[in-house]
Amino acid sequence: MAVPFKIDLSSKVAVVTGGGGILCSIMAEALAECGAKVAILDLRKEAADKVADAIKAAGGTAMGVACNVLDRPSIEAAEAAVRSAFGPCDILINGAGGNNPKGTTSNEQMSEADLTNSNPDIKTFFDLDPKGIEFVFNLNFLGTLLPTQVFSHSMAKNKNGVIINISSMNAFKPLTKIPAYSAAKAAVSNFTQWLAVHMAPMGIRVNAIAPGFFLTDQNRALLTTPDGGLTPRSHKILTHTPMAKFGEPADLLGALLWLTSDKAAGFVTGTVIPIDGGFSAYSGV
Ligand code: NAD
Repeated sequence: MAVPFKIDLSSKVAVVTGGGGILCSIMAEALAECGAKVAILDLRKEAADKVADAIKAAGGTAMGVACNVLDRPSIEAAEAAVRSAFGPCDILINGAGGNNPKGTTSNEQMSEADLTNSNPDIKTFFDLDPKGIEFVFNLNFLGTLLPTQVFSHSMAKNKNGVIINISSMNAFKPLTKIPAYSAAKAAVSNFTQWLAVHMAPMGIRVNAIAPGFFLTDQNRALLTTPDGGLTPRSHKILTHTPMAKFGEPADLLGALLWLTSDKAAGFVTGTVIPIDGGFSAYSGV
């Protein structure tokens, strides 16, 4: 894989949660390309193994590990497996996350019709399922907090570590229809700042990357029509993105490597870096 620039991670162990997914698999590959031993943790073991196999085939060092970021014993088992194969974790990328249709409204704005809605296919604000909201909050927020608890212990002991959380555009301004995901990612950004302050005395830097719009499996149904065209929502996104395009997953790598490098970003902690083609800067007027 082609990284935008190289940093030296040859003595480092990196753990990437959600590393079997689209955005975090490329992050795992980039860290391996820079010499890190990379553990790819994912609920879907076969997806994690596939990424690890690709890294190994390219000459890197990697392992796939089954892990549920919402289950502390599962994270502890993953930590033990990584430690025994590679050593203690130096770099943690908290990438597991996402939305769920149960935390999503059908329409962008409320209307009179919502007051008397009886169509089970239309989900109004009044119909949002607390279980769906809870799922999305847990996956994004607790799914960041729990792996951090487990993997930062050795970092604190070594007085050195890097944690990178994955936030979103939604954290700056909520997108319509996805209140749970927006609020959960706002919590991830806020937690990034809290952790950065809390862990600074232990030599651990904590930052976040906030991707804008990337066409992935997670949002394909929202952004494309079955025949591959753009939905009205996609058009809206692109007209509010000054650079007028979706991001490519590789666009995340420059910020990832910069934030990971103690040499380049040794005095950077508590930041949330938007990578969004200018979306978060644009008022729409
Ligand atoms: P993805 O669905 O391709 O990857 C997410 C991965 O997390 C999957 O491999 C999934 O199996 C794994 N996962 C889900 N639940 C898990 C759990 N409980 N334990 C362990 N692993 C679990 O999604 P992606 O688009 O690559 O997103 C990666 C991160 O980037 C997410 O945090 C997402 O919210 C965020 N993000 C994505 C976009 C985008 O445009 N795709 C934009 C902003 C932020």
